[in-house]
Amino acid sequence: MTRDSRYDILFEPVRLGPVTSRNRFFQVPHCCGMGTQYTETQAAMRGVKAEGGWGVVCTEECMFHMTSETGSYPDPVLFEDRDIKAMAVIAEAIKKHGSLAGVELAHHGMSAENLYSRMAPLGPSSRPQFYGKPLHTKAMDKTDIRDFRRWHRDAALRAKAAGYDVVYVYAAHNIALPMHFLSRRYNDRTDEYGGSLENRVRLIRELLEETKDAIGDSCCVAIRFAVDELLGDAGITKDGEGREVIEMLAELPDLWDVNISGWANDSQSSRFSEEGYQESYVAFVKSLTSKPVVGVGRFTSPDAMVSQIKRGVLDLIGAARPSIADPFLPNKIDEGRIEDIRECIGCNFCISINNQSAPMRCTQNPTVGEEWRRGWHPERIAAKGSDDKVLIVGAGPAGLEAAHALGKRGYEVHLAEARREIGGRITAESALPGLAAWGRVRDYRAYGISQMGNVSVYRDSLMGPGELREFGAAHVVIATGARWRKDGVGRRNPAGIAGAGDHPVFTPDDIMAGAALQGPVVLFDDEDYYLGGVLAEKLRADGLDVTLVTANADVSAYCHNTLEQERIQARLIELGVTIIPLHNLAAIEAGEVELACVFTDRRRRLECASLVLVTGRKPEDSLYRSLTTDRGGIKTLTRIGDCVAPATIAAAVFEGHRYARELDGPAQGDVPFLRERVG
Ligand code: ADP
Ligand code: SF4
Repeated sequence: MTRDSRYDILFEPVRLGPVTSRNRFFQVPHCCGMGTQYTETQAAMRGVKAEGGWGVVCTEECMFHMTSETGSYPDPVLFEDRDIKAMAVIAEAIKKHGSLAGVELAHHGMSAENLYSRMAPLGPSSRPQFYGKPLHTKAMDKTDIRDFRRWHRDAALRAKAAGYDVVYVYAAHNIALPMHFLSRRYNDRTDEYGGSLENRVRLIRELLEETKDAIGDSCCVAIRFAVDELLGDAGITKDGEGREVIEMLAELPDLWDVNISGWANDSQSSRFSEEGYQESYVAFVKSLTSKPVVGVGRFTSPDAMVSQIKRGVLDLIGAARPSIADPFLPNKIDEGRIEDIRECIGCNFCISINNQSAPMRCTQNPTVGEEWRRGWHPERIAAKGSDDKVLIVGAGPAGLEAAHALGKRGYEVHLAEARREIGGRITAESALPGLAAWGRVRDYRAYGISQMGNVSVYRDSLMGPGELREFGAAHVVIATGARWRKDGVGRRNPAGIAGAGDHPVFTPDDIMAGAALQGPVVLFDDEDYYLGGVLAEKLRADGLDVTLVTANADVSAYCHNTLEQERIQARLIELGVTIIPLHNLAAIEAGEVELACVFTDRRRRLECASLVLVTGRKPEDSLYRSLTTDRGGIKTLTRIGDCVAPATIAAAVFEGHRYARELDGPAQGDVPFLRERVG
């Protein structure tokens, strides 16, 4: 297939100061939980994106001084010359494929914790550290500022020595020292670095000038700048100082990378924003500078990308999450394979993992982070090792991914699903408020399978042990999922909840299947991820009086990791959902429930016509168990996904993929992948 000429503009080269990007696809700096602690892992992950057609591929933020180090969080570092080697491994993996390698030199300033180095965080003024740590920043004196500029310059030289083509001055996300100097909130200095905007922007200007002076002959010096903080007059705004800064520095950098801050604004999930959601904030930038402008917006549609360029909003299409979900997105557009794009669903699961200091994972792309350690390529997979027939039972995320990947390997695959609709939990959950984009997990695989002559899908096909034995497949894969429990067994009540068997309760499965509830509704969220909050939102939108009870201080507490928690809580409050935090559900009675304070066990009663339990899930493994004693002619019988151990959609997709890779592969050892270690 060939490229649709409408998309030609996306493949035009763009000059970035002394270097040129081969096209307009720009993987902006994004966290990945790899750093240079997992150098090979990161190098392979970034390298695959370059191979997939991204003209520029950046690392994440790169620390360059011990006054800003991230402890056990894996970030790349250029503290000293000895660090050049590891950074060069990553740059080389990117450049091998003809892409430019970028690095974002970062100093966390007032938000630094420095747990490892024990050095005081630095800031324009003395303030408590951002994240509730019992420490204050040191107000930098003139010597500190001179030192900081020197460290930055030295780091830029190291970045160049490591082979990077694009080097960033970082002033975004409210976690960068230059942004702290710019901010009226944090900067109360009376010297030439405080007071007027001209003074507060001085440090950014100096960094840009000095970086250009040091490496500008051969490297593009970029700035990542937040034009708006969504804080109104308390912060930088696109109509106020955000605009003025662009006017003041317009021609100084070789590239403007513009966004909204903090990170929770920049990386909004699909539950709270549409593709292109930053346009109204950043659209003015191009009118003030002749330098190229890159911006993000969870772009996965080539038409939306072309529109950004043609309407003069952006010169380069920035992407973090879309490049994680599909490293080959540019090449697929180039080759006229739009339908093959594995679109990011905007779930922020990737972020939730790297926020816990581990290499990121992706709901859509099971190969991310596995490129080096398992040798998995997002587009290539080994041809089948035999002519064996494979039967998969259950077309949820695990079964669909297994069928898709085995189909690509050339196996004869049969996928049987009890329901009319395929997709399992994806189909049910994507009908809930704000989760429509999650349907892409099903749609990408359903489309792929529909193009394969060797994969058959059987709907309305409830399979029992007899059917499985008679089917004649050498390999049978059970991917029958899980059901939400009705007995209250869960995190806070591992032995269940008193009265759960005596009174009717509703589970998420019941609600998603259309159960009619009476108010007042009490929803006990013992899972702490997104579903409890989403269901409360739905039931409230249905006009019911809803109280959400959680043993945490916050609703949907895991969603702090996905950057969504504050928006979720705000939305529930605005909708009129009553929130009772820090209480467990102690007992269920007729027409009411008993709650227990998690600290004192003090009890209170709540009227309740319908109780919704979002507690634990039970693996749906009866079919698997019924076959373990008499398999008939089945060579291998394997369970995958939620019917083994209920977990995330990402985990189910991963297990489906792993099954497909390993069906005829070598036996796995106790450590089934390469580990990065010295010696
Ligand atoms: P996972 O997340 O592990 O993929 P899901 O619960 O999303 O699990 O999907 C499991 C799918 O398996 C559901 O669509 C369900 O209807 C289907 N299923 C369960 N039992 C059977 C069975 N005996 N025969 C066919 N399909 C089944
Ligand atoms: Fe997109 Fe979700 Fe994958 Fe992150 S985990 S890249 S948000 S699909």
